[in-house]
Amino acid sequence: MYLLNAQEIEFYLNGGNDQELYTRADQVRQENFGDEVYLRAIVEFSNVCNKKCKYCGLRAPNSSINRYRLKKTEILDVAELAAVNGAKTIVLQSGDDFSYSSNMVGEIVREIKSRHDVAVTLSLGDRSAEEYAYWFECGADRTLIKLETTDSRIYNDIRCGESLKDRLKLVKALQETGYEVGSGIIVGLPGYSIQQLVADLLFLTDLELDMVAAGPFIPHPDTPYSDVETGNIDISYRFTALLRLLNPQTNIPATSALDSFDSKGRETGLRRGCNVIMPSVTPSANRADYNIYPGKNSVSVDVTDSITNAENLIRSLNFVPSVTKGSSKRKRNVK
Ligand code: SAM
Ligand code: SF4
Repeated sequence: MYLLNAQEIEFYLNGGNDQELYTRADQVRQENFGDEVYLRAIVEFSNVCNKKCKYCGLRAPNSSINRYRLKKTEILDVAELAAVNGAKTIVLQSGDDFSYSSNMVGEIVREIKSRHDVAVTLSLGDRSAEEYAYWFECGADRTLIKLETTDSRIYNDIRCGESLKDRLKLVKALQETGYEVGSGIIVGLPGYSIQQLVADLLFLTDLELDMVAAGPFIPHPDTPYSDVETGNIDISYRFTALLRLLNPQTNIPATSALDSFDSKGRETGLRRGCNVIMPSVTPSANRADYNIYPGKNSVSVDVTDSITNAENLIRSLNFVPSVTKGSSKRKRNVK
């Protein structure tokens, strides 16, 4: 039983009553999280990728970007700086870069966990369920694996022949392993429709996720989708507000893609149901090269400033940067 039915969801997605939707989403966020906003420091440690996703600037065939890989010591140094500056969650993210062996990722996780009182999230793409299980044993707490869309034909097209079933199998295996699991979609991919977004919302809700991220599609000039229209920002805000109504206790980030439309995009997201922000703490020398879409990491800041700026953003809304790890509040139904 959903808290909203498909017709109501469609009504709100079409802009039927934005004021009511955003007010309700803000109330539900407040009831579940109070004034606390969780901050996740994201270390984008490699922009090398073996995939060809048509939407993403890191895709392997893109020869226009300057590729980098941080060494283990560099990753540990950045994680340390983030932790010392108050971050309670370190997100390790990269392209699908298999040069980081299972053992190496395991060592990085173990070392971060032994040195700092933080949660570690892995966003490393399609590594095997066995590898993720091993990293869970090493101490990793969470994963972030977006489905990008829940339409299998669109998925197959945008990810060049890959199968949504396989991605979903991985997401479910990670839940079984015991991870807090995050997933989500991109709003406004080629071929999407409002009916598809309704289906996405219900599908993501059924997955009982600990975190759901949904940001607008932003075309990258060096991808096959360079001429595709940018995702609709209002539909994106409505989507996350509806996620909040359907998943009251799930962590929902105000994605950095929102800031590509409006410098206050993440603030608006936090006022409309989101309760998480994920500042990049990638070293200044590499930040701009993590160019998933234009505008990403365009401001050159060091780790300290990145976290301070995020905290200031939270305070500017009269919210409070949480001093906890912001672990998932939601309990999954036993099936
Ligand atoms: N390689 C891993 C994976 O694909 O799961 C993690 C890194 S990937 C760059 C992180 C996320 O960036 C993807 O899940 C996708 O949602 C987002 N992304 C990539 N290209 C995008 C674009 N053009 N617009 C909006 N989001 C995009
Ligand atoms: Fe690689 Fe992830 Fe980008 Fe796909 S979305 S090209 S897997 S970094």
